[in-house]
Amino acid sequence: MVVPTALKILAITDIHDKASSLTSILDSVLREKQVDLITVSGDVSNFGSGEDVARILRLIEKTGIPFCYILGNCDPIEFRNGVNVGGKCLESKCGTFLGINIIGSGGATPTPFGTPFEVSEDEIVGNVARSISECRGSGCTGLVMLLIHNPPRGEVVDRLRTGLHAGSKRLRDLILKSSPLLVQCGHIHEAPGVERIGRSVVFNPGPAFRGRYALVEIEGENANVALGTV
Ligand SMILES: [Zn+2]
Repeated sequence: MVVPTALKILAITDIHDKASSLTSILDSVLREKQVDLITVSGDVSNFGSGEDVARILRLIEKTGIPFCYILGNCDPIEFRNGVNVGGKCLESKCGTFLGINIIGSGGATPTPFGTPFEVSEDEIVGNVARSISECRGSGCTGLVMLLIHNPPRGEVVDRLRTGLHAGSKRLRDLILKSSPLLVQCGHIHEAPGVERIGRSVVFNPGPAFRGRYALVEIEGENANVALGTV
């Protein structure tokens, strides 16, 4: 299935409880653009509670624009399946928004810091692979977007300041095999960027707590991603 008209997504990640930065992004982007959907790829809170996550997501809910999210490694693992807000948590499942099937998996592979929501590479890759096959098994032929906190191994989106790459090689292999149209990740604050892995457009909007975001336009089977800062 092809998306009938151009669809615009405001993509946000790594808010880390900074409500003022999120509000600036929402105000400045929504003043100028018509956005159909907002996607959040984790680290909504900064080692906060479920209520902290909900308090930040309510700022997005207030815009009245549909939104979906997953949590990051700095969010509470016990709320990985969602908090009490109007948006849809896509942890280990698929949600359909205007013809785009979005598949989510939150948390990150173990870090040296022992953060709250750490999961094995096996688990993340397994979650995404299972959700893709469930989605396709239910007769879904639409475009697919992945919403993950942990980046795949790439050139730009997972590059640490040291030059090392923190992304998952197995997620990269899964992307090459399943060719989603888009992959939104986060987690590596110093690595905002857009790149291709096979036929997929992979992007890290950069941390919202520093005013960063991405605007995605999907028209037909083409996706264009532009990074922005307020
Ligand atoms: Zn983060």
